[in-house]
Amino acid sequence: MLATLATAVVVGHSVQHRPITLVHVAGTGPRILVVGCIHGNEPAGIAIVRALERAHPKADLWLVPVLNPDGLAAGTRQNAHGVDLNRNFASLWQHFGQPGSTYYSGPRPFSEPETRAARDLIRRIKPRYTIWYHQHMDVVWAYGRSTAAGRHYARLAGMRLLHRSWLAGSATNWQNHLPNGGASLTVELPAGSLDRDGIRRQVRAVLGLALAAP
Ligand SMILES: [Zn+2]
Repeated sequence: MLATLATAVVVGHSVQHRPITLVHVAGTGPRILVVGCIHGNEPAGIAIVRALERAHPKADLWLVPVLNPDGLAAGTRQNAHGVDLNRNFASLWQHFGQPGSTYYSGPRPFSEPETRAARDLIRRIKPRYTIWYHQHMDVVWAYGRSTAAGRHYARLAGMRLLHRSWLAGSATNWQNHLPNGGASLTVELPAGSLDRDGIRRQVRAVLGLALAAP
C-alpha cells in the first residue's frame, strides 16, 4: 500500500522571489494552520511543521514551514525589505521604526508580499486554530477569544501561558479581530533547536487542539 504523501503548493513569493510553500495534510477534524517561521532568526518551529507533515491527524492541517524565506536565508528577523512581518498586519497597525530596525512596521499594513500571502491564505481557508511559532520566550501567548485554546495548548506542551494583549500589527492581533475568525496563538519556543522530545510535545499540543472545547 502506498503512503499518502502530502503535497506542497506555492502560495506566494518573498521579496527576493523565494517560494512560500503550503502543505495540506487532510483530516476530518477542525482546520488548523501552523506557521513554522515568520522571524528568520527564530527557526525552531520549522522542525515541528516537518513532523506534522508526517502526522495522521484527527485535524485538517494546513502547514506553512517558512513564511519569511529571505529572513531565514539571511539569518535576520526581518524580510529582505527590513520589515518585521509581525508588525505589518492591519489590526492596530502603526508606523514604527526604520528599515532594518528590530520592529520596523513597513510603510503601510500588508506592504510586504509575505504578509499578503498569509492574509490571502487565512481569508481563504478560515482556520479554526492558528499557531505562529516564535522564539525565545518559552511561553504560549494567548488573549481574548484565544485564551482557552492557549491554555489547552500550554498544558499539552508543558509550557506557561502568557495572558497579555496582542501587539500592534501582529498576525495574532489581526486574526483575533477577524469576524468569524478562530483562535490564533503565538507560541514562543525556547532558544536553540528542539530535541526529539521537544518536537513531540509540540506536535501533541497542536493535534490536541482538535479536541479542545472552544
Ligand atoms: Zn518572533
